[in-house]
Amino acid sequence: MSLVSLRNVVKRFGSHEVLKGITLSIDEGETVAVIGRSGSGKSTLLRCVNALETVQEGDLTVAGIEVTAANADLNLLRARVGMVFQSYNLFPHLTVERNVKLALKRVRKMRDAEASEIAHAMVAKVGLAEKLHAYPDELSGGQQQRVAIARSLAMQPSMMLFDEITSALDPELVGEVLRVLEELAREGMTMMLVTHEMNFARTVADRVIFMHEGRIHEDGPSQEVLRNPRTPELKAFLAAVL
Ligand code: ADP
Ligand code: MG
Repeated sequence: MSLVSLRNVVKRFGSHEVLKGITLSIDEGETVAVIGRSGSGKSTLLRCVNALETVQEGDLTVAGIEVTAANADLNLLRARVGMVFQSYNLFPHLTVERNVKLALKRVRKMRDAEASEIAHAMVAKVGLAEKLHAYPDELSGGQQQRVAIARSLAMQPSMMLFDEITSALDPELVGEVLRVLEELAREGMTMMLVTHEMNFARTVADRVIFMHEGRIHEDGPSQEVLRNPRTPELKAFLAAVL
């Protein structure tokens, strides 16, 4: 069963065509790393998948919702598709626990006890049980990013999108965040993640998509794509990042 299905998706900003006909399907349980140069359209692709951007052409079905249909339920889509960005955007005046509970109570209208139970489980899952009552500014960047992941997981999404979530972190904090993703991959969470961590992509992702100038330039099993790039563009990209 594919959870994400794009057919000939075109995205333009004004006259600037940023996605030039993307066809892609992602199966349930797949971990897909999206790589490519800055400006190649990686973030736009992710943003189209959870309808933060509208597309101009093509069809897009995600988590059972036909996103490009006129009557698509975008709130339901965003409930099913969690997204974490480079900047974690936690509420500074709320504890870890309350940050994670907020949407459960406000959006899901969950009772406090039930929201607490889920929040505690998710915070423990990202290895921060002892920080439940800490405030964001008492945490490292890596810990804050793990809280952001916990907050997203609390909504029980069908899949997760991660856009360069370790790029703003000090190098020594990257590993703890990648370990959370690795664990999610092992549990079978369907994920698309934009990353510059090629070792991580090779060892954890099932599949790598190389974006180049708004197109999927290479797509295949991660080991194969990264060890044996077929195109000069991917060779040049890997030479520059490795
Ligand atoms: P990547 O994530 O691979 O660096 P992006 O998807 O962010 O690339 O951007 C792809 C192209 O789309 C870039 O040329 C960028 O300037 C352009 N772009 C992205 N978002 C917008 C926007 N909201 N308005 C206009 N142009 C945009
Ligand atoms: Mg980007």
